[in-house]
Amino acid sequence: MDYVIFDLEWNQCPQGKGKENPKLPFEIVEIGAIKLNENKEEIGRFQEVIRPLVYRHLHYKTKEVIHLEQEELDRARTFSPVVRDFLAWCGEDCKFVTWGSLDLSELQRNMDYYHIRNPLPNPLFFYDLQKMFSLLYDDGKSRMSLEQAVEFLHIEKTIPFHRAFDDTYYTAEVMKRMDLAQVERYESVDYHRLPASRKEEIYRDFGTYTKFVSKTFANKEEAMADKVVTSMRCSRCGLPVWRRIRWFSAGPNTYLSLVQCPRHGYVKGKIRIKKSGDGRIFVVKTMKPADEEAVKKLREKKEQIRQRRRERRKRGKR
Ligand SMILES: [Zn+2]
Repeated sequence: MDYVIFDLEWNQCPQGKGKENPKLPFEIVEIGAIKLNENKEEIGRFQEVIRPLVYRHLHYKTKEVIHLEQEELDRARTFSPVVRDFLAWCGEDCKFVTWGSLDLSELQRNMDYYHIRNPLPNPLFFYDLQKMFSLLYDDGKSRMSLEQAVEFLHIEKTIPFHRAFDDTYYTAEVMKRMDLAQVERYESVDYHRLPASRKEEIYRDFGTYTKFVSKTFANKEEAMADKVVTSMRCSRCGLPVWRRIRWFSAGPNTYLSLVQCPRHGYVKGKIRIKKSGDGRIFVVKTMKPADEEAVKKLREKKEQIRQRRRERRKRGKR
C-alpha cells in the first residue's frame, strides 16, 4: 500500500461572508501530492493549479497566504479534469495522509459540487499526521503548525511554506522521520460521508480508547434520546457497566458521563455533537479508561456546571 500525502489550497468568496455559495464555501485552487511506498520512499509527485469557476478572483486572505498569481489561475485547467487525473494518479490502494483533518472533506465537497463520482472507500480512514505528531511528541491534544513541526525535527527549510506542493513536501519530510508504527492505529475517519443507517455506524477500538460515529439525526435532542448513542460499555472488555454519572451537558455541543466496570474500573464517556453537511447533526462518542484523578476532575466539572446553572436561574428570577 502506498501513502498519498496531499495538501489543497482553496479560495473563498472575495465579497466576504454571507455572499458565498453555500454548496461550495471553499473552492480548491491547487492540489499538491507526494506518493511514498511502504518504506516511505518517494515514488511520485502530483502538482497542479486549478482555475476557479465559482470565485474567479482570489480573496485577499488567500492571496496573502498562498502566493498564487491571478494569471496563473487563469491559465490553469478547471477542477473536474484535474481531480480525475489526481484520483487516477492516487491509484486504488492508497492511504491518504494530510496535515490536519480538513483536506479530504474539502476535496469531496468540491467533487460533489461538480457531480464527480466518489471512488474513495467509505468509511474513509486516513492519517491525520498533525494528530499523530501530537500523539508521538506532545500531549495528543495540542496541534502544532506544520512549520513548528519542521522546526521541532530540525528539518532544513529549503523551500517556502504555503503552496500546496511545498506543504506536502514538508509533511512528507516530517512523516519520514516519525516512528509511524507507534501511532498508526490512531487513524482518523473522514466525516464527509456519514453512516446512512444504524448498520453503517462506525466503531473503532484504538486500544487505549474507543470511538463511535453515529448516523445523522435531526437535532441533538433526538440524538441524546437514542439508546445506541448514549449506551456505555467497558472500553476494555465490552461488558455492561454501572452508571456513575449520567450524561450531562458540558458545553454547547459536548456531553460527558462516567461508568464503572466491575473488573476494569472507571470509563469516561464523551459525546461531541457535530454538524453534517445537510443541516443535520451526528455524534462522535469516545470512551476511555479514567483514573482517580480523571474521575475527581469530572465530578468537579459536573458540580461547577450545576452551580453555574443554579446561579443563572436565581438571577433570572430576580
Ligand atoms: Zn471491563
